[in-house]
Amino acid sequence: MGAQIIDGKAFAAKVRAQVAAHVAGLKAGHGIVPGLAVVLVGQDPASQVYVKNKGVQTIEAGMASFEHKLDAATPEAEILALVARLNADPAVHGILVQLPLPAHVDAALVINAIDPAKDVDGFHISNVGLLGTGQKALVPCTPLGCLMMLRDHHGDLSGLEAVVVGRSNIVGKPMAQLLLGDSCTVTIAHSRTADLGAVCRRADIVVAAVGRPEMIRGDWIKPGATVIDVGINRVPHPDDPAKTRLVGDCHYDSCAAVAGAITPVPGGVGPMTIACLLANTLTACCRAHGLDEPVGLTA
Ligand code: NDP
Repeated sequence: MGAQIIDGKAFAAKVRAQVAAHVAGLKAGHGIVPGLAVVLVGQDPASQVYVKNKGVQTIEAGMASFEHKLDAATPEAEILALVARLNADPAVHGILVQLPLPAHVDAALVINAIDPAKDVDGFHISNVGLLGTGQKALVPCTPLGCLMMLRDHHGDLSGLEAVVVGRSNIVGKPMAQLLLGDSCTVTIAHSRTADLGAVCRRADIVVAAVGRPEMIRGDWIKPGATVIDVGINRVPHPDDPAKTRLVGDCHYDSCAAVAGAITPVPGGVGPMTIACLLANTLTACCRAHGLDEPVGLTA
């Protein structure tokens, strides 16, 4: 295997340390403590784990963490009222409403009720529009993490051919916008793309955000290309069907044999997502107070 492994766990630790150092400076210099509010509606087990991890890492970075856990049956109007209170609270610089929301709640309505300046997930329609028009936005955390790793590995991304596989609003589309912002030549592929293998083979950078275990094989990868695997798929363990293991959207061994660099699953893109959430909260706080933004932690 020739590929350099892009260690997302180590990179995320570096980002968190950078955030913590900047937060300490804000406290010492201005008496400001960035605050992140997370709203969880219902008992979804995966969401509960995410929210717990977010809270722990927020506090470790020296920020204030505000958790709002609501019953699954909470009426939409009550959730909107909470969002309005958080919008008005000067101690809260970032608001995250954990998705998915229960079926009786209009997720788009709730997300678009968040003050765009506090929308640290970058899902508010204003931030989507700002990113799409190349203006200063709060950017979705997972693609921001991918961009940081790509910039770190390549330095300048200008002129590189990038193929993003997947066109979701959470990963694929914002990823493509970010790569375009760094002057890559960008192709977005999806389930209707003809000859996906040929499309991927022309890429210097492949970002896989598909949700199909090990779909992208090594013979789709141009020798020396960089492979960013966003996928997180739980599959039966080959040695013990009673157990499971996590795999990405890329077939790791065959891709790593051809690629120049690759992110593993787990330990690649995954850890960067919460690190970028903290980075976005810090950015939102600095913007709210008219202070310098942290260098290297924004798009
Ligand atoms: P979605 O299901 O919203 O989108 C998947 C995309 O993949 C769609 O655009 C779909 O195309 C495309 N697709 C599906 N099948 C194929 C195929 N056979 N060939 C080409 N394209 C295909 O997923 P998300 O974007 O939310 O997530 C993608 C993956 O990333 C998942 O594994 C998810 O768990 C993971 N993820 C990881 C995160 C992290 O922190 N590391 C965060 C978010 C997601 P079409 O639009 O045509 O249907």
